[in-house]
Amino acid sequence: MAYTYTLGIESTAHTLGIGIMANDTVLADVRYMYEPESGGIHPADAAQHHTHHAQSALFAALQEADLSITDLSAIAFAQGPGLGPCLDVGAVMARTLALSLDIPLIGVNHPLAHIAIGLWTTGLTDPIVVYVSGGNSQLLALSHQQYRVFGETLDVPIGNALDKFARTTGIPHPGGPEIERKAQNGSQLIQLPYVVKGMDFSFSGLLTQVQRKYQEGYAITDLCYSFQEYTFAMLVEATERALAFLEKDSVLLVGGVGANQRLCDMFTTMCRERGAQFVACPMTYAVDNGVMIAYLGWLQYCNAETTSLAASTTDPHWRSDEVTVTW
Ligand code: AMP
Ligand code: MG
Repeated sequence: MAYTYTLGIESTAHTLGIGIMANDTVLADVRYMYEPESGGIHPADAAQHHTHHAQSALFAALQEADLSITDLSAIAFAQGPGLGPCLDVGAVMARTLALSLDIPLIGVNHPLAHIAIGLWTTGLTDPIVVYVSGGNSQLLALSHQQYRVFGETLDVPIGNALDKFARTTGIPHPGGPEIERKAQNGSQLIQLPYVVKGMDFSFSGLLTQVQRKYQEGYAITDLCYSFQEYTFAMLVEATERALAFLEKDSVLLVGGVGANQRLCDMFTTMCRERGAQFVACPMTYAVDNGVMIAYLGWLQYCNAETTSLAASTTDPHWRSDEVTVTW
């Protein structure tokens, strides 16, 4: 059997990832993660980090896959959404490889790659997808060949809110894991804004409040606990509404915030009570990585969805609901 060897490049934000797949078998998964020296992600610094590691990431991936560069069949890259300078590093790499090897170039939508790898790893076929990361917070479901956004944040993504709160309190980036640890020692539920509008939600007012309460001297453990309880309850409520309206029977959690055990527990409880199935994408593939780009790239390749050079411009605001899903 002849294999299609797809190389996938992820560079939308903090991670430069290169994955190589032989059809749907993972051969290589190389990741270099940018860690800001201070504050949050600086797009230009992150792009410089990706450029710096591009060559070694490529060679490491080929070595791990035990392939030579001429064995590759197609080059997939995350075309958007994401941070412009970071996206461009991956796109330049992808165009250079595809042109010099004379093989197809495949632009991949980053959130759809999260969904595709989530379906593949969990075996779910038609879930409500909860995509919660540093840059996105959306509820999506497939309808008429498009992953439509049924609910989303009206302002900051939840991961970004967690990271911003962490920054105010001196917790290093990314803040989610340490906030989760501190929350385990919190017990006092501090009143915060709870904003759900239909299936949309908002975190910015809550973020301002929790920052203010930190300055007022509230215990950090109680603030972390309350932050999680409020924001996660908002996500779960909106998801439950989406499940009911769309008559779906499963929920798939993807994105870095999905690492949070409390969030998973809350989804598990809600789904159990509704007779629905809840599955979180395994953490290895829930965070940004090159394998998911290679995987969706391969699916698109099988459907002859390649990207011409002229159409390969990156789009920092490319929405998942603009893509027709053929896979
Ligand atoms: P991603 O953008 O998908 O790579 O995910 C990164 C985001 O996930 C950051 O905002 C992190 O703070 C957040 N994150 C990572 N681990 C956890 C956790 N255990 N609890 C909550 N958020 C987390
Ligand atoms: Mg992501």
